[in-house]
Amino acid sequence: MLPDYRVRQRDYLLNISRALTSQLDLNAVLRLILQSAVDMLNGLAGLVVLKDPDGRYRIRESYGVARPLLDQLNPIMSAVEDPREATTLLERNLVAIAQRIGLGFWQVVSLPLNVGNELLGNLYVFRNMGGEYSANDRLILQSFADQAAIAVNNARLYQELAQEKRRLDAILEFSADGVVIMDAGHHIVTFNRALAMLTGIAPNVAFSKRFEDVLPLANKRAGVTLTDAEAKGWPQVGASGPLFVEGDLKRANGKLVSVEINFAPLFDHEGRLLNIIANVRDITRFREADEMKSTFVSVVSHELKTPVALIKGYSSTLRRQDARWDQQTVRDSLQVIEEESDRLAELIDNLLDASRVQAGNFRLTMVELDIDQLVVKVVGKFKLQTRSQKLIVEAPSNLPLVNADEARITQVLSNLISNAIKYSPEGGDIRITGTSTEADVVITVSDDGPGIPPEDQAQLFMRFYRVDNAMTRKTQGAGLGLYLSKAIIEAHGGRIWVESDGRSGSRFRFSLPRAR
Ligand code: ADP
Repeated sequence: MLPDYRVRQRDYLLNISRALTSQLDLNAVLRLILQSAVDMLNGLAGLVVLKDPDGRYRIRESYGVARPLLDQLNPIMSAVEDPREATTLLERNLVAIAQRIGLGFWQVVSLPLNVGNELLGNLYVFRNMGGEYSANDRLILQSFADQAAIAVNNARLYQELAQEKRRLDAILEFSADGVVIMDAGHHIVTFNRALAMLTGIAPNVAFSKRFEDVLPLANKRAGVTLTDAEAKGWPQVGASGPLFVEGDLKRANGKLVSVEINFAPLFDHEGRLLNIIANVRDITRFREADEMKSTFVSVVSHELKTPVALIKGYSSTLRRQDARWDQQTVRDSLQVIEEESDRLAELIDNLLDASRVQAGNFRLTMVELDIDQLVVKVVGKFKLQTRSQKLIVEAPSNLPLVNADEARITQVLSNLISNAIKYSPEGGDIRITGTSTEADVVITVSDDGPGIPPEDQAQLFMRFYRVDNAMTRKTQGAGLGLYLSKAIIEAHGGRIWVESDGRSGSRFRFSLPRAR
């Protein structure tokens, strides 16, 4: 072996170990190793074979080997148990192939890539010059291979780590819950998408600010705040479970959102607090469901109590042994009992309907309906009941037919008209009009009552919602009529809405698709 060859080897070794240790990209490391090895051995071509996680060996990098040849070598490699055994196989194949394309005699130098006891893979260099190495050459080459194996291992670990980090980042980013990670001094380092959506605060606005400045908790309802817990020594290594607090967060638009926050500490291997991870969950729905339950109980008990008390009062009066009632009193009392029983029955029906809507099994029996006839019929019934307001029908008698459930549309009309009667002053006009467009028929019930303030209009069609004003307090109602009307109209593919400036009258309107 020539001395300059050895000098070259030494220089290479030095340069390469420097280059290798600074390189973390696995493909770049492999390229560098292969090129250096081929150069050092005056080779013509080379391969790096690495063990995949499935235990098979695959060619990960090649130099000077044509694609078709690689395609032939790949199956040979993936079939071997130990790439060191592949050398003879390779030799046999390469010699045959090389001879066929006229490259003359090739020799395969094989260098195992070991880290500790683990065989990561193998390095092959193909030369067309024969000749032996000295023991010293072998030693130098093997020490190069050892360096290379360490670099491959590092790059691989780094790649795995980077992959793991990307996976964690993706989990964090796409988690349905809000997640914020802060350092031990509560400075925010991660603020995920769900939290940005929930709070309306952009992640870059939150970064490096203190947790409690970005997400101040108002109206604490349960649990312990982070600051209070820390004052009591939280977290302690091994003894601190997650911390929990429930309250309201202020969104960027000033509105509050009910949340539950869980804090978990993350320590380093010496037990120092590295991060606190906070999981923020929107619990508005649970709270709403809770509030809905208590509203339900209070509305139902109030609405049931009144008619029951009246029925009970009138019937026990009539039954008194010591009194004689004239015909008129008896008739009046029985009328009250009948009306109150009707009200009870209606309330029960409404409650049952509401639970059907909730459960999603609300059925319609569709017919081709002449809606102006129906309007006239329903209004006729109400005319008998009220003398205090004037009911005026302005629906033209040639409105197109609609596809609808007659009983349900009767229920909607009755509800809108009875509301107009209930919530507008005596002597007022209630107008029922109908118009049609290309696609729909629109029915409007307007009154000249107090109207509905714009801020109540969005909630008006929700379960149990009643506007808080003198007029509503004077009248009875469970706040289910409009909720059910909306469910019915929407089940027909129509729309229901209110138009009112909150001062002079309301116009309740609904549309139904025309029959085709
Ligand atoms: P209820 O009449 O049983 O309270 P509804 O769902 O029919 O329930 O109506 C909800 C609320 O909407 C009423 O309590 C009332 O405050 C308001 N409202 C409905 N119709 C009118 C109207 N025509 N004018 C003024 N307020 C109305």
